[in-house]
Amino acid sequence: MTVRVATLGFPRIGARRELKKALESFWAGTSAESELQHIAAHLRNEAWAKQKAEGADILPSNDFSFYDHVLDTSAMVGAIPKIYGPVADKIDLTTYFAIARGRQTNGASKSSEESCSCGHGDHGKGIDVPAAEMTKWFDTNYHFLVPEFTKDQTFKLTSTKVLDEYREARAKGFETRPVLLGPLSFLLLGKSHGETFDRLELLGKILPVYTQVLNDLHKEGADWVQIDEPVLVLDLDESAKTAFRQAYQTLTSSVPSLKLMLTTYFGALGDNLETALSLPVHGLHVDLVRAPEQLDEILAKARPDLLLSLGVIDGRNIWKADLNTLLKKLEPVAAKRDLILAPSCSLLHTPIDLERETALDPDVKSWLAFAVQKIAELATLAKALNQGADSVRDKLAENESAIKSRKSSKKIHNPAVKERIAQKDPNLAKRKSPFPTRQKAQEETLHLPLFPTTTIGSFPQTADVRKARAQHAKGELSTADYNAFLEKQTSDAISWQEEVGLDVLVHGEFERNDMVQYFGEKLSGFVFTKHAWVQSYGSRYVRPPIIFGDVTRPSPMTLEWWRFAQSCTKKPVKGMLTGPVTILNWSFVRDDQPRSVTCRQIAFAIRDEVQDLEKAGCQVIQIDEAALREGLPLRRKDWEHYLNWAVESFRVTSSGVEDKTQIHTHMCYSEFNDIIDAISAMDTDVISIETARSKMELLGAFTHHHYPSEIGPGVYDIHSPRVPSIEEMVDLLKEAEKKVNRRQLWVNPDCGLKTRRWEEVKPAIVNMVEAAHRLRG
Ligand code: GLN
Ligand code: ZN
Repeated sequence: MTVRVATLGFPRIGARRELKKALESFWAGTSAESELQHIAAHLRNEAWAKQKAEGADILPSNDFSFYDHVLDTSAMVGAIPKIYGPVADKIDLTTYFAIARGRQTNGASKSSEESCSCGHGDHGKGIDVPAAEMTKWFDTNYHFLVPEFTKDQTFKLTSTKVLDEYREARAKGFETRPVLLGPLSFLLLGKSHGETFDRLELLGKILPVYTQVLNDLHKEGADWVQIDEPVLVLDLDESAKTAFRQAYQTLTSSVPSLKLMLTTYFGALGDNLETALSLPVHGLHVDLVRAPEQLDEILAKARPDLLLSLGVIDGRNIWKADLNTLLKKLEPVAAKRDLILAPSCSLLHTPIDLERETALDPDVKSWLAFAVQKIAELATLAKALNQGADSVRDKLAENESAIKSRKSSKKIHNPAVKERIAQKDPNLAKRKSPFPTRQKAQEETLHLPLFPTTTIGSFPQTADVRKARAQHAKGELSTADYNAFLEKQTSDAISWQEEVGLDVLVHGEFERNDMVQYFGEKLSGFVFTKHAWVQSYGSRYVRPPIIFGDVTRPSPMTLEWWRFAQSCTKKPVKGMLTGPVTILNWSFVRDDQPRSVTCRQIAFAIRDEVQDLEKAGCQVIQIDEAALREGLPLRRKDWEHYLNWAVESFRVTSSGVEDKTQIHTHMCYSEFNDIIDAISAMDTDVISIETARSKMELLGAFTHHHYPSEIGPGVYDIHSPRVPSIEEMVDLLKEAEKKVNRRQLWVNPDCGLKTRRWEEVKPAIVNMVEAAHRLRG
């Protein structure tokens, strides 16, 4: 039987972040679309060549995206919300990026007579549309643009991207298996706009577009298409299961000679297994990293002619796989049927190439595998299965010694940490008094007005800031000069905040490259890479820390910057920390102990920082848990366990302070309905959340559950360059007032402002403060 290697998707960003640069210069108007297209084509070609060179037999196409593959799907089927103009026959890049980023142009420079084919029809007034809503892709830190459907939604084929990229690959000599986001996942991940209705009602209308795409691909020469249906690892109701059967019956019968690889990832099929196996598709990909236990049942129940693609290499983490153990497991399977071996999911969520990390601790490096190395691991496994283990003896031996060295390394285990986190004292995770008592104590010390204004922490990381950091890192700027520069940024930011009349100030986070990396670099048990970027959204990439060992805090991490900022003003300056759950969820986490244990270790380290800030006189401390929700298990049955340990960790961090110390947390989303009890259980004094794009829609959770403490629903969408007007923010706050008591409300942006420019931030915050004033009056 033969075993082949497939990849389900490769990172799009380029090994040197070429796509980021190309996009940002295109957006800034300094390069033409042709230049952007040229770089994109180059990156695709490079990705195909690399994957093939590492031993992939089946290459993906259409895994590339200028922003997001869910948005690409919306653009493919013409699901464009009305505010972006009429649906053209072909969605252009301007519309595409308007959905992704919002669009604001000043019409003043254009005469109203000027003829233009932009279709917006508001010449002379300028264009001002907000971006569409963005949310996290399953439990990853990748964000997608939420498709929006109306009850009378129609679909038509409005993009040739899939076909173009298939052709492009072929022209370069690569035969590919195009990737599509499946119709059920696409519909179910979207939301209804206006009148609510069952999105599955749209299935009959969307399938003809899919059929057309599949037909076009088939005519062009494709014999397989990878169709991703990750919603098959979620809890689905009967109607969704029925819809799956209808959809795949239609698709396979409409294009009978094209083969479909139904692709699932991020977990077990579980109670959807029967459904998945009943579909008339030709292949099924399953995640055997998150859910290795499902293999036996799948082998027992799958049709003999169903081509199985086994996701045996972790597409979500960076540890080397234990190839010898895997091989033992796969040998009996490969003896009976043809197989495809693949990463568990698209490699989008891993960095590209470990080889570029020349400065990593060599031990740690020997334990890692990035996208390129993962393909090589798959190739080794496939070769061992096809030609016998002897054919790759050296590679297997090398792998075995790396796995052994990691298990026994002294760099990983610290008995003092293990002992500290084993403490069982319940007071460790409990504030001294309940919220009402604390609220009073805080009122007495802070004297804040109604609708207090604040920001979430960071201010623009300007080119100057980044340049100074880079120069300091290279040794071109002395530490003294770098610190002087940061002090100037910070004190300027404080003066400006005083000037515009914000109530609770922040120091601006100029010294931080990233809210997790900053802390990871000061904690032990972490390592950092130089080039291991992973896409977060659009042209925003993160370089997650790698937690390889037990975590400790050798010395205070933020104290000096807070002290300096507070010395510049009499107004309260927030202490600004990242919470343990977010540090965990935005890192590549060791897989040799439960995540809950690693989280608790981080919690104790941050707790020490909270206490040091309080001792220094800090009255307001924000502990960001931007990523708490994205750590939620995908299946409901697993939620309670996660939320219990996550909330407990947060409370270990936040509970070592006096009543008068105000603890804030911040979360970058607003879907709280289903986790509101856990949010309440965090027992913070103030929570700020992201609500501008969803127009306060989801704030209702806080009403229904009588959320006790204070809330800052974001009124300024910081993911978009547009400046919200005073009226817009007043309206949002009035909306909020209908849902929660005005005494509970704070006024703040959706999130930190580091990705924005001062030119946008300044007028926006001035408007925001004015909006708060209007509500007070
Ligand atoms: N304090 C952080 C900042 O302002 C919070 C960012 C976040 O939640 N993603 O940048
Ligand atoms: Zn945020």
